[in-house]
Amino acid sequence: MQTKDAGCLYLCATPIGNLEDITLRALRILKEADYIAAEDTRHTLKLLNHFDISKPLISYHEHNKNEKGPEIIEMIKKGYQVALVSDAGMPGISDPGADLVVLARQADVKVTIIPGPSAALSALVLSCLPAQRFVFEGFLPREKKQRRERIQRLKSEERTVIIYEAPHRLISLLQELLEILGDRRISIVRELTKIHEEALLMTIEQALSYFRDKQPKGEFVLVVEGADQTSPHRNFDEISIEEHLMEYVKSGLSKKEAIKQVAKDRDIPKSQVYPYSIGLDQE
Ligand code: SAM
Repeated sequence: MQTKDAGCLYLCATPIGNLEDITLRALRILKEADYIAAEDTRHTLKLLNHFDISKPLISYHEHNKNEKGPEIIEMIKKGYQVALVSDAGMPGISDPGADLVVLARQADVKVTIIPGPSAALSALVLSCLPAQRFVFEGFLPREKKQRRERIQRLKSEERTVIIYEAPHRLISLLQELLEILGDRRISIVRELTKIHEEALLMTIEQALSYFRDKQPKGEFVLVVEGADQTSPHRNFDEISIEEHLMEYVKSGLSKKEAIKQVAKDRDIPKSQVYPYSIGLDQE
């Protein structure tokens, strides 16, 4: 496929679990590319073998990006077509792909995107939390002080927040979120598009007790409700108790959970909310 002066960098999304999620265009580009730059060549080889694609691979990851990035750009300048894939999902989202895009732009090399799945957006739409306005935090800093500062800044963030986290750090992150943000709704989305996919909508406190009993396993995305949704400062007098209940039911809570949350928000007994929930089943 090498044509003089017509090299291009293809940012090629790959599945985040289910291999059927690869696009027809991604398959064509991977077949036509001269080289495939991959975050983990062994991982990508499995994907390529599955689709019967055989291509020279270039290793491009966090620890060699400064040396490999310029080499890849030089190859594209010579006219080679290079597809960049990450371990899963969209290259550039929480992986070194974004650095290569910057290098390509600086070198005036053509870059294009072959869009496809990303764990962040998939988790957001599955979360049942407001998806109209959101922020993506990716992985929070590993260093405790920096991480806590970042969470502190999220305290007044009104948009839904999307966070990536490794399973072995999930509980400590939930503890910090609870301590700094207070108890609010969170959707714990794991193993997207895989056999054990689940999206658990609960409060941070509930999530903590759930995962203290059940060891977190697999890949996780946390989708955290924005600040004003459960803030005690929100003026609930502006909406009726029925409307308040409906908001929660529409966002995925059961009737029982909605009653509990409304009572908590308004600081009134559940028995006072219950009569307003009777009509909800007919909605
Ligand atoms: N580039 C990827 C994307 O577009 O989503 C993200 C790469 S980042 C290095 C890997 C993180 O993404 C994982 O630790 C997890 O938080 C999230 N992730 C990737 N695949 C996932 C899946 N199938 N289910 C849940 N989270 C996933």
